[in-house]
Amino acid sequence: MTDRPAAPAEAPATSLVGGWRRVLAMLGHPRMRSHLLITAVFVLLFASLVFSLARYWTGSLEPRLYLTAETQARILAQSQAAALLETIEHGAPENLREKLFDLTQEILLVEDPATGGRIVLGLDLQIDYEAVAVPAGSLELQDGAHSCERCFHASIPLIAQSGRLLGVADFLLSPRYFDTLSGEMRSKLIAESSLAMVLMALVWITMLVMFHRLYKAKLAIEASDRAKTRFMANVTHELRTPLNAILGYTQLYKQDGTLMAGHGEGISSIDRSAEHLLMMINDILDFSRMGEDRLALHPAEVALPGFLETLVEMMEVRARLKGIRLERQFQPNLPAVVQLDEKRLRQVLLNLLGNAVKFTERGGVQFSVERIAGGNEGEARLRFGVLDSGIGIGPTELESIFVAFRQIDNPITRAEGSGLGLTISEHLVRLMGSELKVESEPGVGSHFWFDLDLLVVAEAGTVDTGAASGAAPVSSRTGVGLSLPDAEFLDEFLEHARRHNVLGLRRMLERLDGQPAYREFVEYVQPYVRGYRFRLLAEWLVRSREC
Ligand code: ADP
Repeated sequence: MTDRPAAPAEAPATSLVGGWRRVLAMLGHPRMRSHLLITAVFVLLFASLVFSLARYWTGSLEPRLYLTAETQARILAQSQAAALLETIEHGAPENLREKLFDLTQEILLVEDPATGGRIVLGLDLQIDYEAVAVPAGSLELQDGAHSCERCFHASIPLIAQSGRLLGVADFLLSPRYFDTLSGEMRSKLIAESSLAMVLMALVWITMLVMFHRLYKAKLAIEASDRAKTRFMANVTHELRTPLNAILGYTQLYKQDGTLMAGHGEGISSIDRSAEHLLMMINDILDFSRMGEDRLALHPAEVALPGFLETLVEMMEVRARLKGIRLERQFQPNLPAVVQLDEKRLRQVLLNLLGNAVKFTERGGVQFSVERIAGGNEGEARLRFGVLDSGIGIGPTELESIFVAFRQIDNPITRAEGSGLGLTISEHLVRLMGSELKVESEPGVGSHFWFDLDLLVVAEAGTVDTGAASGAAPVSSRTGVGLSLPDAEFLDEFLEHARRHNVLGLRRMLERLDGQPAYREFVEYVQPYVRGYRFRLLAEWLVRSREC
C-alpha cells in the first residue's frame, strides 16, 4: 500500500475556513447587510427598553412601594399602640399584666386581609415604672420574633393624656405586604413591557419581510430595466443601418440637379429628418451604454489644431444658416498633438456647440480653448468653453439640466432634441476626469465649460502640421493644411462617402497606412468616418479638391 497524503487531517480546518468564508460572503451581501442593520436597530431598541424599565423599577417604583408599605406598617403599629396605651392608662393595676399579655397575643395574631399572613411578628413593651403605679419590672413583655432582616421596625412612644411618657412599644412588622405589592407591580410591569416587546418584534419581522420583498422588487425592476435598455440598444442599432442607406441616397439625389429642381424640398426634408433621427438614435445608444457602464474612453494621439478646426467647420454651416456668428478663440500656445478620445471629446463639444447654435437667435457663439495653469508634468490643462448669447436657462432649470430626458419647455426644444445630449456629455466629461460646468442667465446667454488634463505628445512648433514628410505637392494642400492623396483615390473615396459605405472608406484608409505623407489626411477624415458623418465628409472632400 502506498502512503496517502495527510489530507483528511487538514480537511476539517479547510472546511471550517470555507464555512467562515461562506458566512462572511453571506454577511457581505447587500440584502444581508440591510437585514443585519435592521436587526441591530431593533436589538438596540430592545436593550434600551429593558434598561429604562430596570432603571424605572430600581430607581423610582420599588423605593416608592417600600415607603408606602413602611407607612402602612407604621399606621398599624400606631393603632395597636393606642390599644396598649388605653389598657395601661385606664386598666386596674392588679390585673394589668394579664390584660396586657392578652392584648399582645391579640396583636400578634392580627392578620393582613390582603396577604392572609400575620402583620406584627414581634412586640417589645418597655414601661416607665415611675409613671405607672405597678411594681418595677412587672409589665415587661416581649413576645414573638426579636429580629427579622427585612422586617419594618416601628418604635411607638406611649404618651398619656396628661402628656407623660408611660413607655415605648417596639413593633416588628412583616414585610409580606411589601413583597406582595412589589411582586404584583413587577408582574404587571413585565406583562406590559412584554406586550411592547412582542409588538416591537412584530414590527421587526414585518420590516424584514417588507424589506425582503422590496429588495426582490428592486432586483426585478433592475433586471427589467436592463432588458429594456438592451432591447432599446438592439433596436436603435438595427435602425442605424437603414437610416444610413436613406442618408446615402438623399446625398446622391442632392447631387442630381434635375431631381433637385423638381423634388429639392422633399429630398432636403427627408435628409434633415434622417440626420435628426440618426442623432437621436446615437444618443439613445450612448445612453443605454452609459447605464450598463459600457461607455469607455479610447484615447489616442490627436492633432489638436486639426481636430478643433473640423469642429468649427462642422458648426459653421449651421451658424451661417441661422444668421449668427461662430467665433473661435484658440490660444496660440495650445499643444500640437495630445492624447485624447477624439470621438468622445468631439461628441461633447458638438453637443455644446450644437445647443449653443440651436438656442441662439441673435448675436453669436464663441468657442474657446485656452491653456490654463495646472496639470501634471507632461500634461497641459486645457479649458474648453462654449459661450452663447441665446435664450439662457433659468436657475430652477439649471439645477436639473444634466438629468436625462429633461428639456426646458420652449418652442425650440418642443421641435427638436432628445434631452440626452447634456446627460451624455456630462457623463463623458466625468469619464475624462473633469466636470462639466454651466452658468446661464435667461435672455442673456449660457456658458458651458470644462478643464481637461491632456498628455502632451508634441508642443506647438515642434511638428510640421503641414506635409510631415513633405511628400505631397503644395497645390494639393487644403485650407486646413493637409496633403491629399491623388485624384483617383479621392474620386473613389468621395463615391464611398456619398454611398455611406463605411467598409469601403475604411479599406481605403487602410491602404494609406504607413504612408507618412497622408497620416494627417487619415487623421482628419477618420472622425467623419467613425462618426458616420458622410455628408460632411463628402462636402469637405469636394471643397478640398476645388482648392
Ligand atoms: P436636447 O437634445 O434637448 O438639446 P440636451 O441634453 O442637450 O438635450 O439639453 C437639455 C436642455 O437644456 C435643452 O432642451 C435646453 O432646454 C437646455 N439647454 C441646453 N443648452 C442650452 C443653451 N446653450 N442655451 C439654452 N438652453 C440650453
